[in-house]
Amino acid sequence: MSRHIQTSLLDPTPRAPDGFRSLAIATQRGSTTLFASARDVRDDWCPERVPYAYGLHGTPTTLELAERIALLENANHCFITPGGQAALALVYFAFCASGDHVLVPESAYGPNKDLAHDLLARLGISVQTYDPMLGADIAALIRPNTRLIWCESPGSATMEVQDVPAIAAVAHEHGVVLALDNTYGSGVFFDAFAHGVDVSIQALTKYVGGHSDLLLGSVSTRSAAHYEALGQARSLLGMAVSPDDCSLALRGLQTLWVRLEHLQKSTLHIAQWLKTRPEVERVLHPALPDCPGHELWKRDFTGSSSVFSVVFATQMAGDLLLDFIDRLALFKIGFSWGGVTSLVAPHFNIDRDVRPYGDRLVRFNIGLEHVDDLIADLEQAFNANKKTKGEAQ
Ligand SMILES: *Cc1c(COP(=O)(O)O)cnc(C)c1O
Repeated sequence: MSRHIQTSLLDPTPRAPDGFRSLAIATQRGSTTLFASARDVRDDWCPERVPYAYGLHGTPTTLELAERIALLENANHCFITPGGQAALALVYFAFCASGDHVLVPESAYGPNKDLAHDLLARLGISVQTYDPMLGADIAALIRPNTRLIWCESPGSATMEVQDVPAIAAVAHEHGVVLALDNTYGSGVFFDAFAHGVDVSIQALTKYVGGHSDLLLGSVSTRSAAHYEALGQARSLLGMAVSPDDCSLALRGLQTLWVRLEHLQKSTLHIAQWLKTRPEVERVLHPALPDCPGHELWKRDFTGSSSVFSVVFATQMAGDLLLDFIDRLALFKIGFSWGGVTSLVAPHFNIDRDVRPYGDRLVRFNIGLEHVDDLIADLEQAFNANKKTKGEAQ
């Protein structure tokens, strides 16, 4: 039977890729993914049971990214989520129910705590923050209904390095799931599962994406039971990801190692230079002794990355510091990090009961610019500060 042109144009039979080989990973889109016959129809999120049931559960591109993140983190399973924050949310929804108790370090990524105290509180899940420098002493905070403990090491903005193995031992003794936000080390500088973690999440937005142009997250685990719980929750929450974004993340993965190696060197160089400045009181970089948990970093990490914070001297506090930031030209002002561009953002009066730094805390992310140019930029911003002060007197 001859068809109309409209029908022929819509025929969903693409040119078969047989015989075509390329180094690029194909971007395979699809909401509907076809079954071979009526008897094959099954709605199941698990690609080991039904390879392609629906685009939400995965296309070859999104599953390829999941597989490579699992390889990177030394996990057995990985889910890709729409962002790092979605990855955090997925862990709560997979493991917690009304009446459960969760422990989150005070140094956790802000929106993780906001999610916990707002949405999860409304669902009857009680979340308690703890001092990230607690190691085995976290045992005193465990209750009969404690279900999940979060670690984030180093923590956001205040950079505390946690004793993850000690906390893991306590968690396992009490049958509690230990989840880690592993974004800082990106699976390269910290081996989560070797240190006792059950579930490791990453904001792929940061180093895996690596170019400030996508939002994605990952949740990895070694446990088959956790895999089932996470897969079920991800499917019910409809956490779909774009194959186009996943293909960008796959490209980012190819240069992850060289970028991190370079960023590690530049960042240490600049952090050490800042430490010599009279305007600076402390540099919170895990590889430098000022950072709480520095000894733990030496014990457990194989490297350091591009994000760190500076506690400025009292005479630089508040407005002077904001003016200093505004004078920087190469350092751009904005959230997130891990791309090729150097960034800076004030973190004034953030929610910290232990080790508060008031209006003197600034976070830096070092990019791939030449270090000499970055230091020259910081220097001109410091010098102009002196000049303004001089004129005012
Ligand atoms: C950025 C970040 C997230 C959230 O990632 P998004 O992809 O922006 O949602 C979570 N945890 C940490 C430690 C982060 O730095």
